[in-house]
This record gives sequence, structure tokens and C-alpha cells, in this order.
Amino acid sequence: MSTMRRNGMTLVISGPSGSGKSTLYKAVSGKLGGVGFSVSCTTRSPRPGEQDGVDYYFLTKEDFERRVAAGDFAEYACVHGNYYGTLKSELSSRMEQGMDVVLDIDVQGAMQLRALAEKDPHFRDSLEFVFVAPPSYAELEKRLRGRGTESAESLEKRLHNAHEEMTFMGKYDYLILNDVLEDAVAAFEALIRSLRLSVKRMKLEDFQ
Ligand code: 5GP
Repeated sequence: MSTMRRNGMTLVISGPSGSGKSTLYKAVSGKLGGVGFSVSCTTRSPRPGEQDGVDYYFLTKEDFERRVAAGDFAEYACVHGNYYGTLKSELSSRMEQGMDVVLDIDVQGAMQLRALAEKDPHFRDSLEFVFVAPPSYAELEKRLRGRGTESAESLEKRLHNAHEEMTFMGKYDYLILNDVLEDAVAAFEALIRSLRLSVKRMKLEDFQ
């Protein structure tokens, strides 16, 4: 056969708010096919232009807690004062189709998935951990202020939390330094192309 079939991977991407995670993966998914996004649940309010079911599933705190109790989340965390979580159903549906799934989640959620990968071989083979870092705190602040999406209170919280989030960098497998955007996009694209060659996700029996 001419093409090798493989299982999809789950790319866990974290980094401080304003590091450019979503700009990066949107740019790369436009260049590469076969990349899907996991839509998270959150209790934060939608920003102008955000759509329920597209950007997030926007839930009330009560609904979120009900879904926690029902065991619906692969991971969840309280980030900048709101709940965020990844539904198990978001992961399984795309991976079974051989799609690569991007999860834009915070460092606490990523560490929960890391622990899951240590216990479960299925997760171990599918998960890859990528940290996106800004070139400096000053640049991060400039980008976050320039984005204009946050209230003064939320902005302060995000800048304050950035320091702690950066201490998790060493717990990831790959680092993308987002200084010049097109270089970061090229690095991320190269990373995905390389990870797609990993033998651990190949369906080798097709060749036997
Ligand atoms: P924002 O409010 O800017 O959309 O997201 C704030 C933070 O929440 C970001 O660091 C983002 O990565 C994180 N986040 C988004 N979805 C999830 C999720 O499903 N789980 C966890 N743990 N964090 C999430």
C-alpha cells in the first residue's frame, strides 16, 4: 500500500495568556490538513464574536459542576477565576478518525493529562506536550493589552498568573518561542510534520 495509516495525536498546547497559542495553531491548521480543535467547556462569559459550540461550550457554574460529577471531563481546572475543561467525548471522536487534535489548555489541565498518560498506554502514545512562550514579560503585557479583550481585573490576573505558568515550561516536551510570528508558525508546522512520523502511532500491521 502507498500510504501508512496512523492513529491521531493529541497536541496539548499551553502558555500564558497572550503568548499567541491560538494565532499559532490557527495559522498552522490552515497550512496542514487533518488538524482539529477540541472545543472546551468554560464558565467564563463569551467575548464579542465568540460562538457557543465553536469557541467554547459556555456553561453555567452549576452545569459545569454537574458534568464534573458525571465524569464527563478528561481534565478540568479553575483558570483566572473560571472553570475550564476538556470533554472526553471531544478527544475520542476525532482521534478515532485519525485526526490530530489540538488542546489549548492551561498548565494544571496539562499536568492532569500527563498523569493520565503515565497510567494509560493509549494516552501515552497519543499525547504530545508543547509549551508556547513569549519572548519577554514586557512583550506579553504589550500583546495582552493590545488585544483589548480583557477587563482591567482579568488583565491583571492573567499577567500575574503568567509568572507561575512560565515555571511549568520544563515539564513539556517541546518549546515554541513566539517572538517573530512567522518563525514560530514555521517551527510549529515542522514539529507537527515530524510528530506525524512517530512510529508509536503507525498502524504497522498494514505492512505485515
Ligand atoms: P481564555 O479565557 O483566554 O479563552 O483562556 C484562558 C486559559 O484557559 C488559557 O490558558 C487556556 O489555555 C485555558 N483553557 C482553555 N480551555 C481549557 C480547558 O479545557 N482546560 C484547561 N485546563 N484550560 C483551558
